[in-house]
Amino acid sequence: MKQHIQSVLQQLEQKTQKRSLKNVSFCNGSWIVMNGRKLLNLASNDYLGLASDERLIEAGCQAMCTYGAGATASRLIVGNYELYAKAEAALKNWKKKEAALIFNSGYTANLGIIAALIGRDDIVFSDWLNHASIIDGIRLSGAERYRYYHNDLDHLESLLKQASPHKRKLIVTDSIFSMDGDMAQLEGLVTLKKRYNAILMVDEAHSSGLYGERGEGLVHHLHLQDQVDIQMGTFSKALGSFGAYVVGEQWLVDYLINTMRSFIFTTALPPAVLGTIEKAIEIVQNEQAKRQTLQAHSCYFRDELQKLGFNVGKSTTHIVPIIIGSNEQTVQMSERLQEYGIAAVAIRPPTVPEGTSRIRFSLTAALAKEEIDWALERIARAGKEMGLIA
Ligand SMILES: *Cc1c(COP(=O)(O)O)cnc(C)c1O
Repeated sequence: MKQHIQSVLQQLEQKTQKRSLKNVSFCNGSWIVMNGRKLLNLASNDYLGLASDERLIEAGCQAMCTYGAGATASRLIVGNYELYAKAEAALKNWKKKEAALIFNSGYTANLGIIAALIGRDDIVFSDWLNHASIIDGIRLSGAERYRYYHNDLDHLESLLKQASPHKRKLIVTDSIFSMDGDMAQLEGLVTLKKRYNAILMVDEAHSSGLYGERGEGLVHHLHLQDQVDIQMGTFSKALGSFGAYVVGEQWLVDYLINTMRSFIFTTALPPAVLGTIEKAIEIVQNEQAKRQTLQAHSCYFRDELQKLGFNVGKSTTHIVPIIIGSNEQTVQMSERLQEYGIAAVAIRPPTVPEGTSRIRFSLTAALAKEEIDWALERIARAGKEMGLIA
């Protein structure tokens, strides 16, 4: 066993795919200290800068002082503190949906929701670039599965057409794709789910807090909240906290409480986290100015990278990759950016398809325009030195 594992690790090393943890000692707003070096943080999912917001921190401290450090049991036993009811009420109100349920993380939410909803007799259709947590949920469900080419509605329709009309069908997609920064074709997906009598689940991990008048997400932004059956999202990105949610009709939540194993068999969230969740839901609805700042930053940053000659793929959001191709060059680029004071991750297979390794930048509203210019100048320098751009 040990020998086998060591040889697997060696192979990863040879392919420049071996990962290691970096030590973060300080993180505030747009800067981070990682492995002892101060870096401009272009790798964070804290899109609105709420993770360091005093109001969230204060709410978390208060909840911990009142209810203690840990939840002591799962929600169905004795861990369902009244903080849950308050946060779920706020969530329903924000999303204008009948029912809401909070989970421990986006990963376990997707795993559990999908595995609870569908089984061996059902069929699932999943975008090629969906998040790993969706893919794992599908695997766990044992359902018949089809991956449609990324954002290719014609391909999806051809698969739906071939499927038995008598089987239950689920279509599942990210709203914003985490490695490419492009958006799902939600209107088209709604049309298809109606035409083929499927239900539609949308993962708003990267759009919650950022789109819609009150940050409800991309589904609301497109006025599709009554057409999408299952809206899932996280508190761990733009909401600056931790945990995840689902909103939908009452049958959905009742069913999940009774059947979702990653909900039932895990300890409830710690009170401090629930305190920050409730506060984040309240705050995020009034953060229109920060949403606009993030949009402006994203457009500017993406346009400037393109002008420099980088391939930013299909990004139209605050997630902006520069697609490089080879693992070695991507890792070298990320190391060089670190030398120049920028934290940006090298994303390699299996997270993205072979031959599309990339540097993934994510922007936040906490960045100042001057900091973005500072970064662009260094990214350009690194890109030229490495021969990625002219
Ligand atoms: C980050 C992410 C998740 C996982 O959420 P966590 O709360 O970090 O576990 C799920 N889906 C998508 C699309 C994500 O980007």
